[in-house]
Amino acid sequence: MKHVNTSVIPSQSTTDHEHHLDDALSRRQFAGLLVGAFTFATLGGLAACSPRTAPLGEVVETIDCDVLVLGGGGAGVTAAAKAAEAGAKTILIEKESWLVGSSSLAIGTLYGAGTKLQKAAGIEDDPEGLLEYFLTRGGDKLDGDMQRFCAEHFGETIDWLYDELKVPFTDVVSLKGKDTVPRGHNCLTNANDALTAVTALAEKHGVTFHFSTAAQTLILDDAGAVVAVLARKDDGSQVHYNAKKTIIATGGFCRNPTMIDEYCPDYSGVYTEVGTGCTGEGLQMGLDAGAAYEGHGGTNGILACPVEAGQSKLISNKALWVDRQGERFVNEGGQTHDIYYTVAHFPQQDFYAIYDQAMVDALSDELQEKFAFGLEEGFFTQGQTVKEAADKLGLDGAAAQKTLEAYNELAQAGTDIQFKKKTENLIALTRAPYYALTFGVCTHGSFGGFHVNTDFQVLDTTGTPLPNLYSAGEVCCGTFIYDDYPAGGCGLNWSYTSGRYAGTNAAQAALG
Ligand SMILES: Cc1cc2nc3c(=O)[nH]c(=O)nc-3n(C[C@H](O)[C@H](O)[C@H](O)COP(=O)(O)OP(=O)(O)OC[C@H]3O[C@@H](n4cnc5c(N)ncnc54)[C@H](O)[C@@H]3O)c2cc1C
Repeated sequence: MKHVNTSVIPSQSTTDHEHHLDDALSRRQFAGLLVGAFTFATLGGLAACSPRTAPLGEVVETIDCDVLVLGGGGAGVTAAAKAAEAGAKTILIEKESWLVGSSSLAIGTLYGAGTKLQKAAGIEDDPEGLLEYFLTRGGDKLDGDMQRFCAEHFGETIDWLYDELKVPFTDVVSLKGKDTVPRGHNCLTNANDALTAVTALAEKHGVTFHFSTAAQTLILDDAGAVVAVLARKDDGSQVHYNAKKTIIATGGFCRNPTMIDEYCPDYSGVYTEVGTGCTGEGLQMGLDAGAAYEGHGGTNGILACPVEAGQSKLISNKALWVDRQGERFVNEGGQTHDIYYTVAHFPQQDFYAIYDQAMVDALSDELQEKFAFGLEEGFFTQGQTVKEAADKLGLDGAAAQKTLEAYNELAQAGTDIQFKKKTENLIALTRAPYYALTFGVCTHGSFGGFHVNTDFQVLDTTGTPLPNLYSAGEVCCGTFIYDDYPAGGCGLNWSYTSGRYAGTNAAQAALG
């Protein structure tokens, strides 16, 4: 944070670092492919990235706007689109050279109630039911107005994406989390369907995108109002943005190990698959300017496979899963997020699947290739017995052998009295050779950040809005999510919904 007299900095108009969105989108698609090829080792390396902290140098240009948005994920692009639609001269700065935040990598589920897609699928639902659900998932410990706001507006956001922006969704609305009503709306391809649509809206309304431009410091006037942002371009030069309103939408901080240690210590050291830019400095800028932190140490995550990013089908619930002690620890067909929380608390944050040859033979050609790669790299091992395969990975092989024998007895009896796995997935593993496969967990987001009100103004520790400062997306999701993910689809919808309202509110306030 800096206090400066902004009146002494002359304004110039320049566009030399504006990039064409077509370039940006094609590069983003390439990034998606690249992520698919990452191994655990690569992900581990990326997890250790630290935020860019280059010293501020000379300001080479000054640019004026009504609304400045920091960060080009679903939240930031939506906020910019809505601000420009409301008539504000809007600039979005993104530190990466294209739109490659978590919103571009996400699976594409959005959670919400009372939608047209639910009606079409014959699902009776309304926001009151969703509010009740949120309150059972930690929402009762948070600001009640925000829980109600999300319950009432999540469905509206899905309808807006589907009806107005023509985002394609599948007809199937899925059951998620611990909910009893199907509320998971799935983009047809992936989350890029939604990001591409809001990007087109932003372009249509004249939003200017400045890529390779990282926000570094908020500038406050003598009364403590945010009046400008200093940013650094990749070529090292500084830009001073004078903005009537600023919206911080810089995503989470899973790629900042120091912040994870500080705010989410239970998840220290967990691999991450979030966008490379999710390093937390946008949050830090706001905290330095007096914003309050709201968060309860939780993260969003899934199970991870060392040879394939995303929800790999090699993590099969038809296998037997054991921990390092060779003991079964879970219903392999249980909720992914619950299993993620269990494994993330194991000392080495990993677990192992036992396959027999029949399971390997049933893999698709594509999975066979990945399986062979896992064997080559030593993530997976083979043995004539489970003991032999498990010993090679450093597990308690003798215990794993006993566990398999007990598991096969359950399978032959047809009932999992231990963990209640569905009978159709409870299959005896009897055909040698046997295989032990290493799996782990990875984060998909951090639950914490700015405390915001339902106008998406950033609040200080007394609950008072910091003048001119708004926020949207994961960087302020601690106001909505406590420490456990309510259901798959809440992260994206929080980003799009908060983006819609932050953008419109900031523009209206800027234009008086
Ligand atoms: C693999 C994966 C799958 C997921 N699947 C789902 C799903 O199906 N459903 C769901 O609900 N949630 C899902 N999530 C979570 C969800 O994607 C995120 O919570 C959401 O996209 C966050 O959106 P955002 O706009 O706040 O942040 P992001 O999309 O991460 O965007 C933040 C942007 O800000 C930029 N930035 C950061 N710092 C600066 C700075 N100083 N200056 C300028 N720019 C900056 C970053 O580079 C980034 O582009 C998934 C996450 C991952 C990683």
